[in-house]
Amino acid sequence: MGRTSTPGPRPVNGANVAAYDAAVFEAHGRTCHLCGRPGADTVDHLVTIKADPSMRWDVANGRPAHRDCNSGRGAAPVPSTWRAEAW
Ligand SMILES: [Zn+2]
Repeated sequence: MGRTSTPGPRPVNGANVAAYDAAVFEAHGRTCHLCGRPGADTVDHLVTIKADPSMRWDVANGRPAHRDCNSGRGAAPVPSTWRAEAW
């Protein structure tokens, strides 16, 4: 799988990010938690890093998400019923 680079600030510790992402995919699979479709390629944080930096590396706080879904959500809270039905 190719990791896609996103515009904007790069993670300072990319290796840790890759290992964390892999651990989240291992724990939660590849179904996007935002739209419910397979093929998630990024990790979204249930509790955003901005809200609680200590949750950044918590695998239980990570959920697989498509990059577009993830960036579309931004730092907004995740309603449990949210689905990309409007797309
Ligand atoms: Zn998605």
